[in-house]
Amino acid sequence: MIEQGPIRPPSESKSLLLRLTRNCPWNRCLFCPVYKGNTFSRRSKEEIKAEIDQLSEIVNDIKNISRKLGFAGKITRTVISHIYPNKDYSTIYRHVSHWLYFGEGSVFLQDANSLIMAPEDLAEILNYLRQKIPEICRITSYARSRTLARRKPDQLVMLREAGLNRIHIGMESGYDPVLSFMEKGSTAEEHIKAGCLVREAGISLSEYVMPGLGGKRWWREHALATADALNQINPDFIRIRSLRVPKTAPLSEKIENGEIELLDDDGVVREIRLFIENLDGITSAVASDHIMNLLEEISGTLPDDKEKMLSVADRYLDLPEEERTIYKVGRWGGAYRSLDDLRDLELRGKIEQVIRQWNLETPGQVHEIIKEIADQYI
Ligand code: SF4
Repeated sequence: MIEQGPIRPPSESKSLLLRLTRNCPWNRCLFCPVYKGNTFSRRSKEEIKAEIDQLSEIVNDIKNISRKLGFAGKITRTVISHIYPNKDYSTIYRHVSHWLYFGEGSVFLQDANSLIMAPEDLAEILNYLRQKIPEICRITSYARSRTLARRKPDQLVMLREAGLNRIHIGMESGYDPVLSFMEKGSTAEEHIKAGCLVREAGISLSEYVMPGLGGKRWWREHALATADALNQINPDFIRIRSLRVPKTAPLSEKIENGEIELLDDDGVVREIRLFIENLDGITSAVASDHIMNLLEEISGTLPDDKEKMLSVADRYLDLPEEERTIYKVGRWGGAYRSLDDLRDLELRGKIEQVIRQWNLETPGQVHEIIKEIADQYI
């Protein structure tokens, strides 16, 4: 039976998933509900290799199905339509056929910190994986900064040579009081060291930052120190993933106890603006590729698109309050993807009608309702 972990980055939605370890070896970050209640465990090299063998057989099986259907091993929509509804094929067949159909050849290693494996063992697995499934052209993984900061430069070079193309790091913040309060288990210094080691090894680097994490108390320091850390790393990608707190995250208790007061959506946009404004001397691509971000349009490549990204935040913040409310309902309701969507008069009319109804039924509660709608995504 092939195992799959619960998550992968949004940018890896077309990747084949391979689970090297289970859950998170740290598992203490207050804002993170993903692995809470689950214990970390390692998988043996033999177990992982046996799973790679199985995946390789499934790839060959699917190509044979394609040949039988007259498509010469190519995975077409017809091949997918043959596999998906057929109960003889397991979920893994569907996953692998979907992967072959998109043809990007990308593999994502699960779960939270594959780099915790001994570098020699991980390199052996990477080499085996590429040898058994030659369709693979890119391999990526999550990793923790504290783990990476303890690796030697030549160990990371070895992993790059074995096929590891990209590492995704959850930096969240570059401000130590925030990192410490949130029990991130990495300091700003470790984040910077880890990021620089990855870059120097020639591995592509994606850093996730979390606007909102400093709450009302630390939002400025959080924005400035995070920008400063990233300016020292110059990662290939800076990915924005604004904070939203599910009930299952330990942070929700701290909010109830009054230990931290969160920013509202507009405050988070102000923080993102300050953060972008202070990214300097780097060439990273910035992406807001997560539904938890209010302004998906804040994306572009530094330094050329900096003004454009700032202008998106300014355009939103300059809107009258009523317009910002309409935008938030449209965005969190799944109808809007850009500020220009406010110009869609038909959609706008529907949203205004919904807001009028809320005001009649629960006067003064519109902002609470908007928050509830936004929280549905977590
Ligand atoms: S290290 Fe990552 S996966 Fe582990 S608890 Fe923190 S945020 Fe969650």
